[in-house]
Amino acid sequence: MCPECPNCRADSGSVVRNGHFFRRSDSRKFQNFRCKACLKYFSNATFSDCYRQKKRRINEPLRDLFCKRISLRDAARHFKVSRTTIARRLVFLAAQSRKRNTMLLHSIQAEFGAFDRVQFDDLITAEHTKCKPISATVVVQEDTRFILSYCVAQIPAFGPLAAIAKQKYGHRADHSRRQRDRLLKQLTDLLPIHTTFRTDEHNHYPVVIKRHFPHTTHVTHKSARGSVSGQGELKKVGRDPLFSINHTLAMFRDKMSRLSRRSWNLSKRIDRLDDHLAIYIESHNRMIFERLKKAKNH
Ligand SMILES: [Zn+2]
Repeated sequence: MCPECPNCRADSGSVVRNGHFFRRSDSRKFQNFRCKACLKYFSNATFSDCYRQKKRRINEPLRDLFCKRISLRDAARHFKVSRTTIARRLVFLAAQSRKRNTMLLHSIQAEFGAFDRVQFDDLITAEHTKCKPISATVVVQEDTRFILSYCVAQIPAFGPLAAIAKQKYGHRADHSRRQRDRLLKQLTDLLPIHTTFRTDEHNHYPVVIKRHFPHTTHVTHKSARGSVSGQGELKKVGRDPLFSINHTLAMFRDKMSRLSRRSWNLSKRIDRLDDHLAIYIESHNRMIFERLKKAKNH
């Protein structure tokens, strides 16, 4: 069966096969086609996600490295490609990961049931300088630690940096509430209405939960002091009721170099942070899904 023509949308009846070609950049063979209506040529590769990319071989290893604490610059040195290639590929891989993750969450629900107990919290990082902080809200399922959704938002500098930041970079609007609201709204499609939420005592959380999940139970916990090692999310308390979210956020800090504390790596742009998170989250969910499926079948 021939595909329809991507150029003039003629149906498969007017498309004929026209030999093969071998794509050297990833050693794959593709069928060529010719459209009898518009006389244009195309191939199976025309429909591929990697159409017109160079260096296709780096895609999957790069996706993996993005979840293993490599910086974008080190990735460029590792593959001997330019920083621009890595930056563009981050955007490309993120778009793929977002699609894959949506499908993955459906498979997870089909296999293990609805996500009816969740925890969420904010992770604070920054773009370009510590004077421009970003808050990333991350929602996980309790116990399994599947990451259900996330959002990123710029926030104004706080603490001792607030005055310096204002003087140097001017006013920085707080988008965190707006983004969190959007996030919870999105979650109404994924979570059942009786979902239990467990969070710390942030004053916006009850408001936003009540707005989108009016019939739900919201349990809050006093947030414990972070351990001295600099990983603020790893608590030094006996049993942390918010372990699922805290542990997940601590893993973010460990697995994405732009998020690690006391490091010279930092996001340059908030949209690229969003992309990096999308890639990490898909890989994180896939890893847990594989592990739980294996445990279930034994
Ligand atoms: Zn055509």
